[in-house]
Amino acid sequence: MNGLTWTDTQVRRLRELDIDLENTVKNFSTPQERNSVFQELEKKQVRIERERLSAFLTSGKKTRRSQLMDDLSLMLNRQGFARVTTPLVISRAALAKMTIGEDHPLFRQVYWINEKQCLRPMLAPNLYSLMKDFGRLNLGTIRFFEMGSCFRRESDGAKHTSEFTMLNLVEMGLPRENRQERLEELAVLVAKTAGLTDFGFEREDSKVYGTTLDVVAGPEKIEVASGAMGPHPLDEPWGINDTWVGMGFGLERLLMTSQGDTSIGKWATSLAYVDGIRLKI
Ligand code: ATP
Ligand code: MG
Repeated sequence: MNGLTWTDTQVRRLRELDIDLENTVKNFSTPQERNSVFQELEKKQVRIERERLSAFLTSGKKTRRSQLMDDLSLMLNRQGFARVTTPLVISRAALAKMTIGEDHPLFRQVYWINEKQCLRPMLAPNLYSLMKDFGRLNLGTIRFFEMGSCFRRESDGAKHTSEFTMLNLVEMGLPRENRQERLEELAVLVAKTAGLTDFGFEREDSKVYGTTLDVVAGPEKIEVASGAMGPHPLDEPWGINDTWVGMGFGLERLLMTSQGDTSIGKWATSLAYVDGIRLKI
């Protein structure tokens, strides 16, 4: 049928309001007809969103982000993992120890606060530092995790935000032959706690980083986590000799994929959304 369809501005607004464009009428015979259908849709959706926001704000409930953080913490505590909190600001030297020097792609994504310090783009440098001390103190099997903000300059908006929340868990001192299985077991525990039903693993062998294990979710196979195991080429500069497994999950990616979304915006730390509900409606 040859008719009029939505204008670009209308499409943008309908998307903004989370209206499924596939399920709306798309052909109109006059601009007046189109505009009145648009206004009707917009009005109805604004009402729905207002009600959702009001229901949330008066429910006394936690946001899904906050609930997920609590659920993951509890689950990991029960598995014998202790939660640690380390600084947001890290040194250029710590990054260099991760081989993230000027020629590394991640280097250009780092937010520098001065010559020698930056906002952490990952938790690994701090966790490596803890691993070194735990290893030196000969504590046997050690399990710990951190959940906190990381920062990267990003250009792809759909799956990246410049501030995101990483959950990074580490288990040290396990038998070498158990590492792969244990890493998968831990990944499944986190994925299930986050409510993921459709997820799988992608294994890669890298000369520099050894074997890495990614967790991907949904039909688009969006990466939600990356894991590694030691002994690892990075261990030497940190002075680590123990075996270990570790994995870093993006909390916003877990929220986004568990909610069936393919875009991260609603789940980012943001002033535009509360619990995934848009405020600028
Ligand atoms: P990608 O290839 O998707 O950019 P990455 O491999 O660079 O991710 P890692 O360094 O492996 O990311 O970080 C571990 C996890 O942290 C990722 O699997 C992802 O869930 C999350 N993550 C990394 N960067 C971002 C970002 N900019 N925004 C949201 N989540 C992120
Ligand atoms: Mg990765």
